[in-house]
Amino acid sequence: MPEGDTIFRTARTLHRALAGQTVTGFETVLPKLARVDYDTPLAGRTVESVEARGKWLLMHFSGDLILLTHMLMSGSWHIYRPGEKWQRQRSHMRIVVETPAMLAVAFNVPVAEFHTTASLARRDGLNRLGPAPLAPDFDAGLAIANLAARPDLELGLALLDQTVLAGLGNVFKSEVAFACGISPFRKVATLTQAQLADLVGTARKFLLANVTEASGHHRTTGRTDREEFLWVYGRAGKPCRRCATPIRGQKHTADGRISFWCPVCQK
Ligand SMILES: [Zn+2]
Repeated sequence: MPEGDTIFRTARTLHRALAGQTVTGFETVLPKLARVDYDTPLAGRTVESVEARGKWLLMHFSGDLILLTHMLMSGSWHIYRPGEKWQRQRSHMRIVVETPAMLAVAFNVPVAEFHTTASLARRDGLNRLGPAPLAPDFDAGLAIANLAARPDLELGLALLDQTVLAGLGNVFKSEVAFACGISPFRKVATLTQAQLADLVGTARKFLLANVTEASGHHRTTGRTDREEFLWVYGRAGKPCRRCATPIRGQKHTADGRISFWCPVCQK
């Protein structure tokens, strides 16, 4: 699943390309969207803005219509000039939003819905999102309180809970726990306020740094060799970059997801 910074970058790219433009064409293979477009056509509306909320992408159109998409594992949005060759097969196309200057194409998006402001406010999964570290009005205090309110969760699962903090995925949750020197298998209840604050601050720092990461890859170590971009994620059995102890990849019993960690550096 893409991390929040990936969705944030996609939203920013789409916003720059589309905001203020009039929609001249809309195409979709998804019957649910096609029905809405038939009743209340998208063509003629203005793209007002494109934003990320956690891992959701929202495209706002004039006349109170919002296109909500979630990439899950497989989806992506691309931008093309009219006539430009697509980088993916047409059979993977799900949505095309066309303006005079640009085509925004969604490939393989598994979740796509039209909403009004009112229906969006009721949308499950979106209405209970925790604070997003990439939002300009990010409320770190609330994120810390949300974490503290999940005392029975193991840290590696709490960091993925989008109602706690919106935007962390598998890569960053392992990296954040390593950077803070805390085992992802510790219950949140055992952590101090200072540790919770450090975790939230580090999550924000990593996501912000990766929004501007020029390589397009996730990087937390600050190193220049691409083989050394991450501390622990995906490195099971390889030596810890700090202490040379083999990194472990271990499943959480609660849901079978894996956290990567150093048994020496992380207590
Ligand atoms: Zn170590």
